Amino acid sequence: MNAPLPEHVLPRLEPRRIPAPMLEALRARFGERCSTAASVREQHGRDESTYPVTPPEAVVYCESTEDVAAVVALAQAHAVPVIPFGVGSSLEGHLLAVQGGVSVDLSRMAAIVRVDADDLTVTVQAGVTREQLNREIRDTGLFFPIDPGANASLGGMAATRASGTNAVRYGTMRENVLGLTVVTASGEVIHTGTRAKKSAAGYDLTRLFVGSEGTLGVMTEITLKLYPLPEAVSAAVCHFPSIDAAVRTTIQIIQMGVPIARCELLDPNAIRAVNRHSKLSLREAPMLLMEFHGSEAGVREQAETVQALAREFGGEDFQWARTPEERTRLWAARHQSYFAALQTRPGCRCLSTDTCVPISRLAENINDSIAEAEASGIPYWIVGHVGDGNFHLSYLLDPNDPAEAATVERLSEQMVQRALRLEGTCSGEHGIGLHKMGYLVDEAGAGAVALMRQIKHSLDPKNIMNPGKVFDW
Ligand SMILES: Cc1cc2nc3c(=O)[nH]c(=O)nc-3n(C[C@H](O)[C@H](O)[C@H](O)COP(=O)(O)OP(=O)(O)OC[C@H]3O[C@@H](n4cnc5c(N)ncnc54)[C@H](O)[C@@H]3O)c2cc1C
Repeated sequence: MNAPLPEHVLPRLEPRRIPAPMLEALRARFGERCSTAASVREQHGRDESTYPVTPPEAVVYCESTEDVAAVVALAQAHAVPVIPFGVGSSLEGHLLAVQGGVSVDLSRMAAIVRVDADDLTVTVQAGVTREQLNREIRDTGLFFPIDPGANASLGGMAATRASGTNAVRYGTMRENVLGLTVVTASGEVIHTGTRAKKSAAGYDLTRLFVGSEGTLGVMTEITLKLYPLPEAVSAAVCHFPSIDAAVRTTIQIIQMGVPIARCELLDPNAIRAVNRHSKLSLREAPMLLMEFHGSEAGVREQAETVQALAREFGGEDFQWARTPEERTRLWAARHQSYFAALQTRPGCRCLSTDTCVPISRLAENINDSIAEAEASGIPYWIVGHVGDGNFHLSYLLDPNDPAEAATVERLSEQMVQRALRLEGTCSGEHGIGLHKMGYLVDEAGAGAVALMRQIKHSLDPKNIMNPGKVFDW
């Protein structure tokens, strides 16, 4: 059993069925690329949230913008939901087909369309994953920094306005998407933005679609900023007497303007899990895992500043990952922490919180959240992009224990309300999906959500694009 669907979703579970003529038209155009097999539908009706599988009625594997436009035009004509699908790594119930419909799988749209090394830009199809992109452009001496841990699709990352470990230096998808090709809800193909670094031309439609979670249109091509591979990269771990000390060091690093590239917190529970899973022997004490990018001299200077700051807060045993292999091993362990933690409580599901606050309020936010987690007695672990004021306290819950699920939901809500009181957000990077719809109203206010709704109504009057997500229709 999984956590129950939120109450606001239940009235919508009456699916809008795909009428026979539409299914026939899909089969005629896409042949075997249109599937109604139960296993395929189930794979597309779930994500990494704790919610039960809620499958679409059909899945279409698209290979071009024209394919996507053809599916959307049919869906528009028959008022059937369309749910874009990247790789399914989202965490908030984004992909559940709460009103049925067609899942548009973009994984076969995996071409790098053009690389413009001189301009530091690349255009990709939406199904390209971040690891694939960096593999394919390695020879250019450039890289794309946004790294949400999971090997997500760039379409999914743009749709959730993803970030991750490198955002403290390079920003999020919001700062790194220059332009888009989008199939709108009417089935029309539009282009937003240009390859120029900046533009003052008209409304910023690029940023309207980035973070829209599939509710306004399907992004089929994305133009992104690239960065030169740094001349020097160095990574280090440092242990602290308390989480508070690690967080206060981070706050100082940011307030002093050190251009650190990654600054990740792991609590002892997370370290215990990754030690076991990745066969490491890291000390099981609060730890910052950091990375510095720049010239040899610049990296040395940053590292010296950070070491001095860490010492002030009791930080000790600074250990450097000197070779690329050592560095890769450490970051791989950090990225596997989710699956490592799941293994510490067999059969559990994970509810990952995602609050983000202004950097000066981070210590208060983390300390109070930990006090509540400790008092609950429910297993939890923490990793965090603390340089951004963002961290994930994740509860490992027994899916067969409704009382425990309810307690975790209450603790998660307390965390959100605290982050809002501290002038932060309910979601630093995972998005709203189904899970945080109520919190969006708490955060943005009814007036702002009403304006979002007006935009949705005007761009998607039949509510076909990923309906039932982000806010109520
Ligand atoms: C272990 C783990 C760690 C993670 N760590 C991070 C992290 O550090 N930072 C972070 O930001 N996220 C993180 N995530 C969450 C997840 O990886 C991101 O949300 C990611 O951006 C989702 O990409 P995806 O390809 O899996 O999208 P999907 O899950 O397939 O889709 C996500 C949403 O985007 C929509 N969508 C997908 N493609 C398109 C498209 N082409 N056009 C329009 N809409 C589209 C979907 O309809 C859905 O609403 C993590 C997830 C896991 C499992």
